[in-house]
Amino acid sequence: MSGGLTGRFGERMEVCEVSFFDEKVQDLYDEVVARNPGEVEFHQAVREVFDSLGAVLVKHPHYADSGIIERLCEPERQIIFRVPWVDDAGAVRINRGFRVEFNSALGPYKGGLRFHPSVYLGVIKFLGFEQIFKNALTGLPIGGGKGGSDFDPKGRSDGEIMRFCQSFMTELYRHIGEHTDVPAGDIGVGGREIGYLFGQYKRITNRYESGVLTGKGLSWGGSQVRTEATGYGVVFFVREMLNARGQDLDGKRVVVSGSGNVALYAIDKVHQLGGRVVACSDSGGYVVDEDGIDLELLKQIKGVQRGRVSDYAEKRGAPAYFVSSGSIWDVPTDIAIPCATQNELNADDAANLIAHGCTIVAEGANMPSTPEAIKAFSSSGVLFAPGKAANAGGVATSALEMQQNASRDSWSFEHTELRLAQIMRGIHENCLRTADEYGAPGDYVLGANIAGFTHVADAMLALGVI
Ligand code: NDP
Repeated sequence: MSGGLTGRFGERMEVCEVSFFDEKVQDLYDEVVARNPGEVEFHQAVREVFDSLGAVLVKHPHYADSGIIERLCEPERQIIFRVPWVDDAGAVRINRGFRVEFNSALGPYKGGLRFHPSVYLGVIKFLGFEQIFKNALTGLPIGGGKGGSDFDPKGRSDGEIMRFCQSFMTELYRHIGEHTDVPAGDIGVGGREIGYLFGQYKRITNRYESGVLTGKGLSWGGSQVRTEATGYGVVFFVREMLNARGQDLDGKRVVVSGSGNVALYAIDKVHQLGGRVVACSDSGGYVVDEDGIDLELLKQIKGVQRGRVSDYAEKRGAPAYFVSSGSIWDVPTDIAIPCATQNELNADDAANLIAHGCTIVAEGANMPSTPEAIKAFSSSGVLFAPGKAANAGGVATSALEMQQNASRDSWSFEHTELRLAQIMRGIHENCLRTADEYGAPGDYVLGANIAGFTHVADAMLALGVI
């Protein structure tokens, strides 16, 4: 057998039993790769979950007999469509749109839309697959889905963004609905894009169906704290990791990659809780600011002017400086919070972080750490929180937005933030409890994968062969 899927449990369980289930999981994984050729990010996301499943199958063999794992890996529906639009020069442009409705056992499909040139089916499927378990971990009634386009919003005018969003929604509208599928934002899709998408949905359907999209503006159906939720949530999760070990964020040095929605509000919450973020980045490089990142300046540059972090270093002046090559993970830190994109933190980066004394890594982005990096953290005792647990605050608050829309209510910032903090505490407890139950104390990856899997698998079994 290649891979040794649950080798670490070998000492504690019947060797023949473990190897039987490891082989079963390996066969299932080989089948996923064969059925979904070329979708490397999807394979990676499946592998990460499968790495935890051998232990579950030993304890609960009925999951192996029911075909539940095969069913989980096959999306319920995959939609791919043409998105034609006209640029400012009058030229017709064509992009490809995607919506993968992965699993609706727990509720309507829920997950964001990503607009980025790297988007193809394999990226959307990895994100959708992750979303199933993440959404299950929140304990809220939401299934898993994801969508997006290979459209590159960088350098596009407001008019071009609007026309693209309108064309995208002109096809997407027929597949979504507040009880069916509820998209939100992700990379390249923020409040402005959700506005254009919602406006077009409303026009086509003649329905003010607030619950069809989340991440809306506060004056037209949005929720307090949704903008901040993913970044705040990941820092709440870090706070739980520290508190569980008798520590807190006060005085801690933190590096946050990215400078988009998740990164900005992770920086905000770290500073509120007494830590100091000394570096952040974008796809052009990273900036180091030993005085602590000036969040208002960064928001102005990235959020309002849609500029670069290099502009931040220029405007801020010394001691801040910009580095265009190399890796942000070269910057020494106590805590690392990757918030940019998938596979942005590799084995070399992990080795650098470990050498500089980093003790906690919490994923704000989806799958930012490579499998080799995760292995390095685990073998050197660095506490590692996977995205499906640590960044679940965004989708959890989206579910709170849906609750408010359904009851035609709107909650205060304080109340919503408290709910978010409670949800993150619940996810943290669930991960630790599950890891303990499976004999791997402190293993957040195992805890998150198994707790998410059993929740959704049990619901699917209860619903018959679906
Ligand atoms: P944004 O588009 O707001 O920001 C993305 C940031 O990451 C930007 O700073 C961008 O830099 C940087 N980035 C993107 N691609 C690359 C790359 N290839 N190399 C280096 N930097 C890159 O997205 P979000 O903040 O919303 O999302 C960030 C991550 O968090 C994603 O993995 C997303 O899936 C995940 N996430 C988001 C949630 C949300 O609520 N928004 C919820 C849960 C997870 P540049 O400006 O140069 O493009």
